[in-house]
Amino acid sequence: MDGWPVEMEAAVEFGEYLSYFGPLCVVISRNDQRVSWSGDEDPDDAALDLTRPPMVFMAAPSEPFARIVEFTLPGDLPAAELVAQARQLLAAGRSAALAAVCDDSTCSICGEAYPRAHLLTPSRAVEMLLCPLCIFDGDVFDADLVHLATQINELEFADLAVPAGWSAMGALLACAAGDGLVERMHATAQRGGVAFLAYERWSDPGAAWIWLPAAEQRPAALRHLGPGARLDVLVDAVDAAYPHLRQRVRTTQNDSWQELIGAEKGPAVGPEPDRFIASLWPVIIGIVVAFTAQALERPTRQAPLAQDRGALDALRRYWPQIASPYEVEDAMAMVEIGLDIVAETLFGTPQ
Ligand SMILES: [Zn+2]
Repeated sequence: MDGWPVEMEAAVEFGEYLSYFGPLCVVISRNDQRVSWSGDEDPDDAALDLTRPPMVFMAAPSEPFARIVEFTLPGDLPAAELVAQARQLLAAGRSAALAAVCDDSTCSICGEAYPRAHLLTPSRAVEMLLCPLCIFDGDVFDADLVHLATQINELEFADLAVPAGWSAMGALLACAAGDGLVERMHATAQRGGVAFLAYERWSDPGAAWIWLPAAEQRPAALRHLGPGARLDVLVDAVDAAYPHLRQRVRTTQNDSWQELIGAEKGPAVGPEPDRFIASLWPVIIGIVVAFTAQALERPTRQAPLAQDRGALDALRRYWPQIASPYEVEDAMAMVEIGLDIVAETLFGTPQ
């Protein structure tokens, strides 16, 4: 669906095809035509009236007991109409969910107010409530990044009002991690005794769901997208509209590295290797877009990335937890430099 991440269940259960389109749970069935059940019904069973359209049920969030929006559309609507209605209803649900939250707690480090349910704990052993930016703060000594990832996954599944920036921090972990992140997330959840199912986007970070600012508050390059989009779709749109942006970040990062090395070693004796990490380019775009959406959705609060930018410093300490194949210093320099350049280009303001 139009730039959204899609995950399909492999098997039909109780006559329903179940799939996930970003935060929307989508169920296709003809269960309005059944009078009895065995458990392995197929919606395309010839015993049913296949001349009638199936029902397309959509709901968000995916957690059945936390739903804010639920609607059913006839399955014979043109695909473009289904997509348009899904976009509109999800955006309305997101607005309703945001309007209903109450900032009844604060992050223990930055002091920003958030709903208690949206704050995260740095590890199973530490009960401090923090925003995800502060989990990387140097004041937290025993954060567990895999535990952080599992909490973000849970919130995305169960809460339609989750702050937009949280998913970008998840995308940072997914893009930076080496192999086995999903397995470690399952093991962490299992140790905590909770049932857990990781979205596929943790092993395919291009499929991460990123909430977007309202259409009129976006750069023209992103106006054609719905209320959110896959991270790789955002990256393609930004790269197409600003073809020199990636290279500008790369050059600035490499120049700043040269300056640093020059100050330490004297004149360079040969070309330095490229410090830019192409796999982390989506992280910069995801963070800028998602945290800008969050700032616009919560206009009375401080813009999240305006807070202490040393917040990512602790990445150095925690980097081994996600078995990243990338140099942490290069990653940090790239994100730091890239956030300002990309934010200024897309939204006219440095972060
Ligand atoms: Zn905080």
